[in-house]
Amino acid sequence: MIGLISATAAGAAARDRLAAAWPDRTRVYEGPVADAVRAAFAECEQLVCFLATGAVVRLVAPLLGDKRTDPGVVCVDEGGRFAVSLVGGHGGGANELAGEVAELLGARPVVTTATDAVGLPGLDTLGLPVEGDVAGVSRALLDGEPVSLKAELVWPLPALKVAEEGVYTVRLSDRAVEAGEREVVLRPPSLVVGVGASKGALAEEILDLVHGSLEGLSVRSVAHLATVDAKAEEPGIVEAARRLGVPLVTYPAAELADIEVPNPSAHPLAAVGTPSVAEASALRDGGELLVPKRKSAMATCAVVRRPARGRLAVVGLGPGARDLLTPRAKAELRRASVLVGLDQYVDQIRDLLRPGTRVLESGLGAEEERARTAVAEAREGHAVALIGSGDAGVYAMASPALAEASDDIEVVGVPGVTAALAAGAILGAPLGHDHVSISLSDLHTPWEVIERRVRAAAEADIVVTFYNPRSRGRDWQLPKALAILSEHREPTTPVGIVRNASRPDESSRLTTLGAINPAWVDMMTVVTVGNTATRDIAGRMVTPRGYRWQGSQEDPK
Ligand code: SAH
Repeated sequence: MIGLISATAAGAAARDRLAAAWPDRTRVYEGPVADAVRAAFAECEQLVCFLATGAVVRLVAPLLGDKRTDPGVVCVDEGGRFAVSLVGGHGGGANELAGEVAELLGARPVVTTATDAVGLPGLDTLGLPVEGDVAGVSRALLDGEPVSLKAELVWPLPALKVAEEGVYTVRLSDRAVEAGEREVVLRPPSLVVGVGASKGALAEEILDLVHGSLEGLSVRSVAHLATVDAKAEEPGIVEAARRLGVPLVTYPAAELADIEVPNPSAHPLAAVGTPSVAEASALRDGGELLVPKRKSAMATCAVVRRPARGRLAVVGLGPGARDLLTPRAKAELRRASVLVGLDQYVDQIRDLLRPGTRVLESGLGAEEERARTAVAEAREGHAVALIGSGDAGVYAMASPALAEASDDIEVVGVPGVTAALAAGAILGAPLGHDHVSISLSDLHTPWEVIERRVRAAAEADIVVTFYNPRSRGRDWQLPKALAILSEHREPTTPVGIVRNASRPDESSRLTTLGAINPAWVDMMTVVTVGNTATRDIAGRMVTPRGYRWQGSQEDPK
């Protein structure tokens, strides 16, 4: 039973909503709150108090006994904005209850126990089949008890907080091992079963052969069946895959014919045009042949352990403010077990990482090396997040990383709010029509190339945002670029300067091409120069969407 206690009219209204939604789970305690809390604490498994946390702390403090048996207590504030898990987060179920209450009232759950706050992955949410003592090992992970990881192979899992030695074990294995006491076994989809079959072979025969070949291996680790294109519709094979609950993947005979196998034979060569179907299709994506070709009357089968396909997430963190970091970026940071990035960006999101995440941070200037490290880690089969500020693809890590990567890893891009957009929102609407970004850094790009682009933008009357506009050692490039733009734009053209957009020391100013002082600009700044139609309207920089809308109604948008 959940005891409900409130003091004010607003609290009572929220309380009544809860009571109405959960009539069988809740009981309202009226009367003086001190008595109500005491009675509910003695009689209920959980309490929801529509009171300030301070008041509740004072009331329950003398009642607290043991965290394993005390009721869970959730506080909801007067405004109904937060549902705070106050005590009994795990044992009393307050963390979960805070989530439920928040959902119902449209509030935010506030959970401060370490493991939940950082979102330790539930063992059953990793996307892999799991066997054994899931409840016991999950609880051990949550309670911070030592859990050791026995990984028989590398797989791109999120970080798990594990110890060298533990009473509890998480085993990652595709072998047919049984989970021991206080152990769970995770089944990575690491096995590929190649099959061949004569026309009309029955599914039963194929399945018998597959199961026989998997001796010592777990059928739950089978990723897919593989065969030659010509057998894509062979009913026995299709049915075998269906019953195993895995996809059937097929390859052209010519491709399979090129794969070196230990047991080629003349029969399939004559029938379908490759000397090997089972072994070659299983080995198509590389890996280790665990079970060479086996035969039954009408079928063949071979088993390969494929290499883990690592995962590289290239994640833009946005310009700085936490609420401009997208939920998807956050999810990818938690999906990773290895984080690669510039130390100052790592600091920006360190609190979001799961415990156990391996952090590879380096200082300014080590771009190429960071990119290489990230790709190398992914190639080894890990789940890697490579981070960058703003958008990771804009003057940032995505291109050097993808230049290194081949198709043996999975790559996931997460867009971020780039500096030009963050600055644009602060300035007003400077990017309302065509616009470009130009980096003024001539460290990696010859100045002639940069100048040509500035000139093109100037001639085309395009709004320009300068990234990397000026540093201590590079001070003449910005004046030069502005001079080129001035050949085509009036001195009154608005120019927006934004420094540290969305960071604590954010500043911005609106000036003009004629009045700008380059000394206002440094490397933490972007400079946006308007086109000939851009105006300063009430202190905001506005570039009209079309050149005609002010005079006519032709553009209804
Ligand atoms: N990937 C980043 C850009 C990296 S280049 C992005 O998409 O924003 C580095 C340059 O970006 C800096 O010299 C500066 O010009 C600009 N910049 C990055 N963050 C900024 C911020 N918060 N405010 C203003 N300019 C910023």
